[in-house]
Amino acid sequence: MTHDLVISNGTVVTPEHGTFEADVAADGETISAIAAPGTLSGETEIDATGKHVLPGAIDPHTHHGIYRGLEADAESESKSDLVGGVTTIGNYFRRAGAYEEIMPGYFDEAEPNYYHDYFFSLGLLSMEHVEEIPAIIEEFGITTFKWYMNYKDAAREKFGVDCDMHDDFGDAFIRKLAEQDVPTTLGYHSENVEITNALAGGNVYVTSESDDTDADADADEGYEVMVEEFPGYAETQSMVAGAALAKVHGYDDRFYAVHISAGGTADELAALHDAGYRAWGETCIHYLALTTEECDERMKVNPPVRSKADQETLWERLADGTISTIGTDHCANLAENKFGEGIRDSLLGFPSTPVMLPLILSEGVNEGRISLERAVEVTSTNAAKAFNCYPKKGTVRVGSDADLVVVDLDETKTVTPELLHSVSGYSPYEGRDVTGWPTQTVVKGELAYDDGEIVGTKGHGTHIDRPV
Ligand SMILES: [Zn+2]
Repeated sequence: MTHDLVISNGTVVTPEHGTFEADVAADGETISAIAAPGTLSGETEIDATGKHVLPGAIDPHTHHGIYRGLEADAESESKSDLVGGVTTIGNYFRRAGAYEEIMPGYFDEAEPNYYHDYFFSLGLLSMEHVEEIPAIIEEFGITTFKWYMNYKDAAREKFGVDCDMHDDFGDAFIRKLAEQDVPTTLGYHSENVEITNALAGGNVYVTSESDDTDADADADEGYEVMVEEFPGYAETQSMVAGAALAKVHGYDDRFYAVHISAGGTADELAALHDAGYRAWGETCIHYLALTTEECDERMKVNPPVRSKADQETLWERLADGTISTIGTDHCANLAENKFGEGIRDSLLGFPSTPVMLPLILSEGVNEGRISLERAVEVTSTNAAKAFNCYPKKGTVRVGSDADLVVVDLDETKTVTPELLHSVSGYSPYEGRDVTGWPTQTVVKGELAYDDGEIVGTKGHGTHIDRPV
């Protein structure tokens, strides 16, 4: 029979079944056959001779809609993601008010515009939000949430809610999640904000275009002030405290520390694992690919990019299984808005989803730090598991969604915003030579990126209602 699409003669990489030569066929949106090389035929055929076929990458940590509105980001960012082999993203969204009333409008903005699938994770900001958890799961298929320790004392002012986000709030939050019948996940922003606020001395870090900058902002300050005022130990201590609270409620297996930036945090997570905790750890690609010395306003983000020693520890902890997933904290802020007078006056966040997989292939696999199988686990399979969409996503097997990426491990390209089809007009990695790029990206059976060209369809992506 002729299949809708066949990727032939490639080396398929799966964490479950290892690495093997095969043809992979898709019919409709799902993988329909995996067979000996050269045995399947399709309406559309992609020759993957000499290349690897991986499950589409998943970026579980993005902030679409945070600066430009979701409609615009959904279209431009999901298109750009295809260049980097990303076929699913998780979008963190937070707003005061009843999510049952807010989300329908937000789905309306997302659904017609995504080139690939996506899921929402909701920041809970108030006790009312905690009470809404069962309805959010039931009505919207959203099972993943976030607790922001950095807004502990700022929730009233920043979000206009009538409670603080102190530990009593987190306690109620975790207990409510642990009560649910379906698997849920708690993303946790680790930061002891009493320490970071004291170190920052009341200096304002611009987090949105409407925030006022601090009058004392000094244009001569460099990136190091971010590292001094957001030290690694403030992240480490907070992560351990959060994991401990989850553990006492029997919820540590669904506790997920987002964007681990400090080597010390990864080491303490390993110690928790040794002590019987099952907590998840995520790092972001910038903590693996950059060091403080290389950074300027373009890389402004919280937590900040740290030292070479931190970076080396994160790679080791990624290789040894302590850190399970990689995200990006991607924000689509435009160059004209991002850059201010010096570090304090610049916007937080930057775009990087499309470079996530290429940088892991280049700096991880090609530099011998992790195996290709481990790269697939940390860029796809584990995120699917942590965010409750496995095995629909995150693997190459019959019946799973046909989200596939063909990569050439030997191809070197220099990063430019144009290469990434980026609307932001800058990349923190601009000018860097990266070896290991997708040549084709397939989204739910449809060829969506082909050798430099975006050929996918806007609206082909949809929200992944969980549990799957
Ligand atoms: Zn984030």
